[in-house]
Amino acid sequence: MAEGDVIVGLEVHCQLDTKSKLFCGCSTDYRADGPNTHVCPICLGLPGAMPVLNKRAIAFAMRVAKALNCAVLDESEFARKNYFYPDLDKAYQITQYDKPLAEGGYLEIDSDEGGERRIRITRIHVEEDPGRLVHMGNTERGKYSLVDYNRSGIPLIEIVSEPDMRSPKEARKFLNKLRATLEYLSVFDSEKEGSLRVDANISIRGSERVEVKNITSYKGVEKALTFEITRQKNLLRRGQKVERETRHFLEARGVTQSARSKELEHDYRYFPEPDLRPLHVRSWLDGIVLPELPDARRERFMVQYSCSPSHARTLTGELRLANFFEEVVAADPRGLSGLAATWIADTLIGELNYRDMSLDPVDPGSFTWLVLLLKQGTITDKSGVEVLRVMLDQRLRKEACETPEDIVRRLNLAKTSGDTGAIASAIREAIEENPKAIDDYRAGKGGALNFLVGQVMKKTRGKADPGELNRMLTESLKDREA
Ligand SMILES: [Zn+2]
Repeated sequence: MAEGDVIVGLEVHCQLDTKSKLFCGCSTDYRADGPNTHVCPICLGLPGAMPVLNKRAIAFAMRVAKALNCAVLDESEFARKNYFYPDLDKAYQITQYDKPLAEGGYLEIDSDEGGERRIRITRIHVEEDPGRLVHMGNTERGKYSLVDYNRSGIPLIEIVSEPDMRSPKEARKFLNKLRATLEYLSVFDSEKEGSLRVDANISIRGSERVEVKNITSYKGVEKALTFEITRQKNLLRRGQKVERETRHFLEARGVTQSARSKELEHDYRYFPEPDLRPLHVRSWLDGIVLPELPDARRERFMVQYSCSPSHARTLTGELRLANFFEEVVAADPRGLSGLAATWIADTLIGELNYRDMSLDPVDPGSFTWLVLLLKQGTITDKSGVEVLRVMLDQRLRKEACETPEDIVRRLNLAKTSGDTGAIASAIREAIEENPKAIDDYRAGKGGALNFLVGQVMKKTRGKADPGELNRMLTESLKDREA
């Protein structure tokens, strides 16, 4: 089956990063607080409470519409989507139905074959987030669930794509590009837990379409799609049919599971929300000045800092990372950008991923000093990695943070400078401990010297300059012979 036979469309729900909720004044900054502490009669759906639209949320959604090249409708309208579920206190969700905010845009991603690919956007609409259920124990067997309405009424935009993606990898690229774009627009914070949820439509050409719901992480999208495509292909290979159905993604197990059919028998009975007037906001578009977006910043990084295309792509792929890079090199862009690009895009990201750590606690000032130590040749690359690891671990454990220089001094990592004594004693030890290698060396066996160099390197933990070490070791061996 050819790769082009896979068809993927995404529905992406993003929380807009406003200060207050969509229809009331409750604060959206609820994550650190106890359950049901950011609620009022409106977001609790008490009888008689009237929604008041948050203008800023609409302004944020309009920025997204412009950045994604969408057409904003003359008139859009809120509607009630009726269903009964404990996370929905009013028994209806205020959303947009047949008159969304905007339609018909696109987002460009790097295609798998190189070059750009245009993924069409079907529509963008604004809606409120429901509350959150906390299941006590297993969802199936747990005794009860708790409900937290702090999330109820947080503004969301739903961005629906056309089925233009041809692989899980493309879906991931689309999502990464979308996330970066929303962050550059300052309307979204991907670091906030649960700020993005994805539903995916997946089919193999000529077969029925399956909707996978409940994907809550960026990595989850690629995993869920890969699982689902394999499942569908296996069905077809065995001559069976793919059923048109909704499935849930179980993130911990990495599988999709058929949703019980009664969950599907929805009749949402949409009708216009009587408490909110239709929106006429298209004229706002002219007043929106978009900031520099990821593609433009990538181009600029290649020109201004001579970044390689791949480093420029990585560094500008996340707003925080791009800002971090520019702060690190600010003192001396010409002198530091090469080393900084490599050390951020290659080393730092790897070390952060390994620790499942975000960039936020890392201080650009300290990182600049690390890059300077490397540039001045004070430490080797190997020691640089060691210093970085100590820096990150101290931040992760919220310990007092040493400067890179402090770490170099404490761990005695500076290259030979003023420290030939330590290397000399490491050489002495290596010679004492390895009489056989000394015999081999005297017998002219190649490899014996390399073995000893390795032993000394181990003792000095890589801080010795290899050329200098070789010279000192050869001299010591000569001295012993004399
Ligand atoms: Zn409220």
